[in-house]
Order: sequence, then C-alpha cells, then structure tokens
Amino acid sequence: MVNDPFHKEQRLLDKAAAALKDGEGSEAAAKGVLNSLLKGYRKLLRQSRRLVTMGDRMQMTLNEVNRNLTVSEQKFRGIFENVTEGIYRCTAAGEIVEANPALAAMFGYDSPESFVGEVKNIKALFCNSKDYARYQKSLETGFSRRLEVTACTPAGKTIWAEISASVMHDSDDSECSGIVGVLTDITERRSMMEELCRLARTDSMTGLWNRGYFMELGNREVLRSIRNMEACSLLLIDVDFFKKVNDRYGHDVGDKVLIELAGIMSDSVRETDLVARIGGEEFVALLPGTSMGEARNVAGRMAQNVRNTVIEAGKDEFGITISMGLSTLCLGDDLERLMKNSDIALYAAKKKGRDRVEEYRDSSTRLSGIVQSEAGGEVQPQ
Ligand code: GH3
Ligand code: MG
Ligand code: MG
Repeated sequence: MVNDPFHKEQRLLDKAAAALKDGEGSEAAAKGVLNSLLKGYRKLLRQSRRLVTMGDRMQMTLNEVNRNLTVSEQKFRGIFENVTEGIYRCTAAGEIVEANPALAAMFGYDSPESFVGEVKNIKALFCNSKDYARYQKSLETGFSRRLEVTACTPAGKTIWAEISASVMHDSDDSECSGIVGVLTDITERRSMMEELCRLARTDSMTGLWNRGYFMELGNREVLRSIRNMEACSLLLIDVDFFKKVNDRYGHDVGDKVLIELAGIMSDSVRETDLVARIGGEEFVALLPGTSMGEARNVAGRMAQNVRNTVIEAGKDEFGITISMGLSTLCLGDDLERLMKNSDIALYAAKKKGRDRVEEYRDSSTRLSGIVQSEAGGEVQPQ
C-alpha cells in the first residue's frame, strides 16, 4: 500500500511472520530476519521519540497561543465594555448580534442585552432612510468612514451620530460574514457647530443676518434672479437722526430702538426676503421676486410701521423714522451694484428731508439691461 507511511515496517513484519510460520529456514536466515526486525524496531523507537518531542513542542506553542488569545480577548473586552463610543456587531443582513454598554446607553437602554433584544436590526436606528441607504452603499466598498447620520432613540429623541463600520470576512475570499461598527454621539458637537455658524452669521444685538452673511446669501439670490430673469429689489434703510436718540436718551435706549426696528423690518417683509444689519444703524432688505412697484409698497408699509412705533425711555416716549433708498436689478448688475444704487437713492432721501423712500432710476445708461414692469411683475428687455 503506497499511502501507508509504515509500509516498509509492515513488509518486515510480514517477512518475519512468514519465516516463523515456515520454521524450516536456516539459523542464519532466522538471525537475518531478527536483525532486520531489531533495526526496524530501533528506527520506530527513534521516530516515536521524535514525534513525542514534536507533540510536546506543539502543545507548548498551543498553550502560548491560547494564553495570548485570552489576553487579547481580555483587552478587547476591556475596550468593548468601557469605551465611550458605541460598538456593534451585526450580520450581513443587519441583525444585531452584539452591542457594548455605551451603545445601549446612547439609545436609552439599561443593558446591551435589552438593546439587542429590542432593536434587533441596525436599520431601526436610522431616522432617515436616505442615511441608511448611504450607510449601506458605503459598505459595498468594504467600510464606511465617519458618516454623519441622524439616529432615533426609542423615546423619540433624535441624536446626531458619526458611524464608521467595516465588513468582516471569515477568509480572504469569503463572502461578508458580518459587520462591525462604531457609533459616536456627536449631537453636542453638531449643535456647537450650528451655534458657532449662527453666531458667525448673525448680528448679536438684533439677531438679523450680519453684513458678511448677507453678502453671501444676497449674491446667491441675485445670481439666481438673473439666471431666471426674475425681478429683485433692494432697500437700504438708515435710521433718521439716530445720533440724537443716543445723545438724548443714552446708548441703551439707542440699542433698544435698533432691536425694535429689526423686528419691524422683519415683520414688514416676506419670509423669503433677506433682512440684515449692515452697519451701526443701517439695514438692508433684499426682496427677490419683487418689482420696483411692489418694493415701493413694501417700503411704504415698513416706513408706516416704524412711524407707528412708540419708544419708551423712562417717563419719556418718542417716535422714530427711517429713510430708504430703493433700486431694482438690471441685467449685468451684481449685489454690490444694487447696494451702491440704493445708497445713491438713500442719500437723496436724506437730502430731501428724511422719513421717505427714494428710488434709483438710471435707465439712460443701462440700455442693455432689463427692468421690472411696474404693473405685472414680469422682467422685460428694455
Ligand atoms: P442721519 O439722519 O443723517 O442718518 O443722522 P444720524 O444721526 O442717524 O446719523 P449719524 O451717522 O450721524 O449717526 C449714527 C449714529 O448711530 C452714531 C452712532 O453712535 C450710532 N450707532 C451706531 N451703532 C450703534 C449701536 O450699536 N448702538 C447705538 N446705541 N448706537 C449706535
Ligand atoms: Mg447711517
Ligand atoms: Mg442715520
């Protein structure tokens, strides 16, 4: 038998057995068989000893591997149990197999067991199906990196989470055998970022957009209006004799006036209009989709609302007025140009006695432009 590793020894034994059975061979032949048997036996003994030594060594190596495995399992468990990030392991179909205490706590559960028992599938954590689709898509590449998603807790709370996950394989060429993922609660970081953004964009006193952000939003609106050939008007607003308010009633009252005015201006325009404080007592209102005629009405309403307002300063009461410069978008204009034109009109309003709206009109130099039809609200070539 070729596959038998002991075929030589087997042959030796067969030969000796045959010699014993015959019993008729010479003494020399018997000695020869015995010698061969002794030689074979010694060889077997040597090989057996070697095997025993090898077995001992393998056992020692195995013990060492087991010890290392236990240590790394302990390390992994320590991290898994104590890390502040949520960790989960799920099947390729998303069924959660294991979760750590941080993940359970993140979603309001007392223990990982109750979390796994109730949530069941990772999909249930996603508030938004588009986020889940993004997560699934990213896993097609083998891993997802720092996806920001909204997740829902069973209590109905929404949290922002950053999720990183990777696909596991049992061997190099096997199918996905599961997914392991890490979830970080970034709700606080997100709201801090949002607050920072808000602070960077707004005027802290009035809560209106500040100049920088107004220019950003306004430029976008103007470009959109030009692209769509839609009307767009801009009101530049300045408080009349505001210095006198400060001088007579103090800066605090002056601030109160500015806050009051910001509210009146916002209430006098549509939600889609942009109102900003662009200087000390200077404001701007960009009115997309609004013709010169319509903007004139808005300005008139705003001026009247301001006139109707009574400001209290201790026992005193006083009124305020505003002056406005109005211009409307023509082809080739940008936001800067619109503001300059309104400023020219505002200057005229101040010169003509304040508490009034002046319109910028310069059609003679703008033959290639478009102007707003006063009646219909359509943009027409001039
Ligand atoms: P006009 O009708 O020509 O616009 O006169 P005015 O007094 O309003 O204009 P002027 O530019 O002379 O004065 C503006 C004043 O606004 C001067 C400044 O002290 C005041 N001001 C600017 N920012 C603030 C602010 O944040 N709070 C207060 N209380 N006053 C401010
Ligand atoms: Mg001013
Ligand atoms: Mg002023």
